Amino acid sequence: MQLPLRSLAVSFIFLLILTFALSAQFAQEVPPGAPILGFSPPHAAAEHQLESTFQSIPSPKKAREWHRTFTAEPHPAASERNNQLADFVADAWRKQGWEEVALRRYDVLHSRPRSISLEMTEPVHFTASLREDAYDVDPDTKNPTVSGSYFGYSASGDVTAEVVYAHSGNPEDYDVLRKNGVSVKGKIVLVRYSNPYSYRGFKALTAEREGAAALLVYSDPAEDGSAPGKVFPDGPWGPESHIQRGSITYDYIVPGDPTTPGWASVPGAKHIAPEEARSLPKIVALPLSWRDAKPLLENMSGPEAPKDWQGALPITYRFTGAVKVHVKVDMDTSMQPYTVVEARIRGSELPDEWVLLGNHRDAWVFGGVDPSSGTASMMELTRSLGELKQRGIRPRRTIVVCSWDGEEYALTGSTEWGEQFADDLKKKLVAYLNVDESVAGAATTAGPEGLSFSPAAVASLAPMLVEASKDVRAPSGKSLYEAWRGTAMRDSKASAPPLDSELVETRIGSGSDHTVFLNHLGRPVINLGFTGDYGVYHSMYDDHYWMAHIGDPAFEYHVALARIWGLVALRLANSDILPFDFGFNASALEKSLRELEQNNNVEQRRLSLKRLHARIAEFEKAGSLLRNAAARDLQAGSFSAEKVRRLNEQLLQVESNWLDPAGIPGRPWFQHLLYSSRYTYAHLEFPGLTEAVEKQDWKLAGEQAALLEKAVKKNAKLLRSSQSLWEKNKQ
Ligand SMILES: [Zn+2]
Repeated sequence: MQLPLRSLAVSFIFLLILTFALSAQFAQEVPPGAPILGFSPPHAAAEHQLESTFQSIPSPKKAREWHRTFTAEPHPAASERNNQLADFVADAWRKQGWEEVALRRYDVLHSRPRSISLEMTEPVHFTASLREDAYDVDPDTKNPTVSGSYFGYSASGDVTAEVVYAHSGNPEDYDVLRKNGVSVKGKIVLVRYSNPYSYRGFKALTAEREGAAALLVYSDPAEDGSAPGKVFPDGPWGPESHIQRGSITYDYIVPGDPTTPGWASVPGAKHIAPEEARSLPKIVALPLSWRDAKPLLENMSGPEAPKDWQGALPITYRFTGAVKVHVKVDMDTSMQPYTVVEARIRGSELPDEWVLLGNHRDAWVFGGVDPSSGTASMMELTRSLGELKQRGIRPRRTIVVCSWDGEEYALTGSTEWGEQFADDLKKKLVAYLNVDESVAGAATTAGPEGLSFSPAAVASLAPMLVEASKDVRAPSGKSLYEAWRGTAMRDSKASAPPLDSELVETRIGSGSDHTVFLNHLGRPVINLGFTGDYGVYHSMYDDHYWMAHIGDPAFEYHVALARIWGLVALRLANSDILPFDFGFNASALEKSLRELEQNNNVEQRRLSLKRLHARIAEFEKAGSLLRNAAARDLQAGSFSAEKVRRLNEQLLQVESNWLDPAGIPGRPWFQHLLYSSRYTYAHLEFPGLTEAVEKQDWKLAGEQAALLEKAVKKNAKLLRSSQSLWEKNKQ
C-alpha cells in the first residue's frame, strides 16, 4: 500500500498560484525536485511548495512590533506585567488560529528583593548605587519600575567582613589564593563574570564550599565592557553602570521549583521545606556594575594578584587588604504563581506525535535580547503557521508551542510542565525546538559576513538541520547555509569553511528550557539562535533601543530565525520517515569518547573503553545501513504506511533508550546517559563516565562504561532488527 496523498499536497495547488510571485523573494531558490531527508519525492515536492508559502509570511515590520510590545515594560517572572503578557500571548495565539490554548499554572517558591544595600566601611566610606544610569536617547532607561541589583535565590543576610578578590571564583582560583596564604573563610569574596562564560550559580556554590560569608560578582570591562568595543548607547557592550542580574540557583543539580524536585508544582502539590532543597544557595550574593566594584578593588592594599587576574580597570588588582564592606540582602521568598501558555495545531494524520516549540517569556528587565528577541521570532512563527492552518494546511503531526515562565530563575516553567506531562511527552514528543535569544548579537558591528548562526542539536538531528539551512535566506542575501559556513570559518579563524559534519554544535549544555526534555525525558532537542557582540546581558540596557539601533535594526535576523525554526518544525511534522540519522549520531559519540580519553589520559590498565568503542562502531554500522535502506526505498516509493509507522516508532525508541531511570551519580534528575551539563552549564558528554574518570574513581568509571555499552548495544540491536523488518516485508 502507498501512503495516501496528503491534503497539504492538494491544497498547495491553490496557494502556488496565489503566492508564488511573493514567496520567491523571501525563500531561497529551491530546485523543484530537490530531495528532503525523510520525504518521498512527491511529498518532498509538496513540502518545498508549502515551505515557500510559509517563508513568505514572516515580516520584519511585524517582528519589530512584537518586540516593542514584549519589551515595553520590565517583565520578570511573577510580576504583574509578565502575567499580563501570558494573557496577551494566549489571545494572540487564539486569533492566529491555534487550538486548545491553555494557561498552566504552577505555584513556585519564588525569590525577589525586599531591600538590598552595600557599603564600604573601611578604609573609606562608600555607598554602592546598585542602580544603572538613564540615557536621554533611550526613554525606557528612565522607567521607574526597573529593579536595582539582585540575584534570584540569594540567601538573605547581613554581613560585614573583609573583602578578598578571587578572580573568576572557580575552584582553581581559590587554589591560587591558598598558595598565596589567603583564606576566604568568613570573608566577602569579590569575583568577576568570566569569559568563557561560567554560570554564576557555580561561583556561588564554590564560594559557599570555600566557607565565604558572602559573594559579590561584578562585570569587569575586560569581559563585556569597554575593552571589547563601544558601549551602550553607542555600541553593543556594557557601560560602566550595567549590572548583570541573574539567578544563582543550583539548577545543575535539579532544575525547576526548588521545593518540588522531580515533580510538578501544580496547585496543591506537596512542597519540601526550603532547608531541604538541594538547589537553594545558602550564601548571600549580589551582582555589581564595575562602577560599584571599582572603589572596593582600588582601595585594597595587599599583595598584587597575578597577571591573568588583572582586569581592564586602570588599577592594580590585589588579593586582599584594608577593605571591609557591609552587605545586606533581604529577599521575599513567598510562593508565587508562574504561567506557561500552551497551544497546538492538531496534526491531520498523526495527532499523537508532537513537535514542540518553545521560548521563555520572563526577563530580568526589558529582555531586549533575552528572551524577547526569541519571543518576537516565535510570535511571527506562530502567526505564519496559524495562517497556513487558516488556509487549510495542517501539518501531519501535531505542532505544540509553549511560552515558558520563570526560565531565568531555575528553568522553572518548562521543568514543571515537562514533569507534569512526562508520560505523554515520553510517548509522543518527536523533538523539542528551543529558542531563547533569537538575536544575541549586533548586526551593526558584525562586519560583512553578518551575525553567526550558532545552533546546537542532538547529533541525530544535525544532518536535517544543515539540510534545512540550505532553503532559508540569510539577511546577507546568501543562503543561511552559506552564511553559516562563512561565519563559522571567520569565527574559528580557519582558512576554509568547516565540513557539513562539523557545522552543528552537537554538544549541548544547560542554561535554557531544552533541559527537561533532553536530560530528564530523553527527547531530542535543537536550540537555534544568532550570536555576535553583546555585552548588556541581563542588564537594563538589554532593551528595545539596543535591538532597534544596535542589534538588529532591520529585524531581518528575527525573521530569518523564524524561518529556519519553522522549516525544521514543518519537516519534522510532515516527514514520512523521521529524519533521525543514527549513523551520524554514532560518529559524534565516537568523537566525544576519543576526546574524553585524550583529555584525561585514560590508560588501558585503569579503564578499558575498547568494548564501548566496539559497541559504538556496531551502532554506527546499523544506523548507516538502516538510514540508507530507508532512504533508497523512500526514493523508489516502495514502502507501506504501516512499515513507515513501525519504523518511526522504533526510531523514537532509540532516543528513549538513552535514559537511565537511576540518573547520573549524585544527580538522579539528570537521566540521559549521553548528555548532561557541568555545574558551569558547559556541555558534558557521557556525564556519569566523564565525572568518574575526572575524579579518578576507576571502579565507578568501569560501572558507567558498562552502562553505556549496554545502552549502545541495545540501540544497535534495535536498529538491526528495524532494518531486517524493513527489508523483509517489501511492500
Ligand atoms: Zn533567556
